[in-house]
Amino acid sequence: MSESMILATTLEELRQARALLENPLGLVPTMGYLHRGHLSLVERARAECASVGVSIFVNPTQFGPKEDLTNYPRNLEGDLKLLEAAGVDLVWMPTPEIVYPPGFQTWVAVEGLTSPLEGAMRPGHFRGVTTVVAKLFNAFQPQKAYFGQKDAQQAAVIRRMTRDLDFPVDITICPTLREADGLAMSSRNTYLNPQERQAATVLFRALSAAKAAYDSGERDAESLRVLMRETIESEPFAKMQYVSCADYDTLEELQTVGDKALLSMAVTLGKTRLIDNFVIGD
Ligand code: AMP
Repeated sequence: MSESMILATTLEELRQARALLENPLGLVPTMGYLHRGHLSLVERARAECASVGVSIFVNPTQFGPKEDLTNYPRNLEGDLKLLEAAGVDLVWMPTPEIVYPPGFQTWVAVEGLTSPLEGAMRPGHFRGVTTVVAKLFNAFQPQKAYFGQKDAQQAAVIRRMTRDLDFPVDITICPTLREADGLAMSSRNTYLNPQERQAATVLFRALSAAKAAYDSGERDAESLRVLMRETIESEPFAKMQYVSCADYDTLEELQTVGDKALLSMAVTLGKTRLIDNFVIGD
């Protein structure tokens, strides 16, 4: 761990600072507005790596035209204090122009895995994610990188990209941190008004109901989806976008739950879109 945290903006600044850091370097990519979920990734990296790098970049290419790019919450000063206290060595905060200079026209896209779920609801989202993560891997040259299970499909897609493109990076997926009432921590929770905040526990309640049914022996995937759908429909402030009970590896919808399955959902509360998931049967 270095004495004080280095802040880099340009790619050149990042590369120079990175070259002085010891290996293995653990990278934690973020969009900032950090909460304890992000910090749990940083702590894991700190425990496992000689150096820790964090990126703070609200990546425009992973937002759709009608999504919340311009309103996405930001608190750079607060983020840097948290990262310094967590013992981070290097933070990269590039501008969009640094990551996507004029004339940019090269993309990294994972196919099949990005078709269902979030990929179906957010066309182009994962192309933006995989492109920026590939660029972050090139920029930081990390030996390890840390992502949250909260974004389950993103985790699967990044694993796939890393394997398919032979990035020499070991990917670790960390558990979802939750508030006391079960709501998964998310920078977007800040959008919720008090009524919506209360209603937002419906994601956890729906996932818990499906898991309880699974634990009592239910193996019919559609019954689990119906249970989740009904729980969401019982909450007047919530609107379901999708519920899924899918194969953990392929993300294809299941008929029968065998070994490892992913229960996942996207729900809107007013203008706020939240996602959550549980893994069952491992
Ligand atoms: P974001 O800033 O939303 O792009 O998230 C940066 C990283 O933190 C991603 O790998 C997320 O999956 C992870 N993350 C976000 N929320 C949580 C959470 N509640 N628990 C654990 N990891 C999380």
